Amino acid sequence: MIAQTDRQKPPNTLIEILDDLDILTLRSVRTYLDQRIDDLRPTLPEMIRAETEGEIVDIRDRRSYTLVRKYPTSRDNSDTYPQPLSLYRVKREKRLNGKETLHWSFLGDIIEPLSIECGNCGVLLDESTTVCPHCGEELLRDEEV
Ligand SMILES: [Zn+2]
Repeated sequence: MIAQTDRQKPPNTLIEILDDLDILTLRSVRTYLDQRIDDLRPTLPEMIRAETEGEIVDIRDRRSYTLVRKYPTSRDNSDTYPQPLSLYRVKREKRLNGKETLHWSFLGDIIEPLSIECGNCGVLLDESTTVCPHCGEELLRDEEV
């Protein structure tokens, strides 16, 4: 018998059930398993908060990546002057061993509090901007603050 330290294989009772299934049912099981794994793994914002130093201002989800605004780790304690905010684009990266890590891309520092974000490249812009100077995307106003 294989000891329960063999984590590569599901429990025997489960294998017996799976062995009886036809290919269509197996495919639906595979889809279900992918969803379950997605539900159980830490969300991207959770992973970001777990491995980040420095103060996170906000985390915004996009379809295929996430934008993070945060202050640098070595933040000056004085509140007299506006501190630069750093903007990052963060994606999940799958390693060969199946473990997921985060890939951080530094997009730039923001000095002024800007409120409109380009939906295409994620750069933050002045509210009066209608076309992103960075990528040429036409900016749509949505309900996001
Ligand atoms: Zn843009």
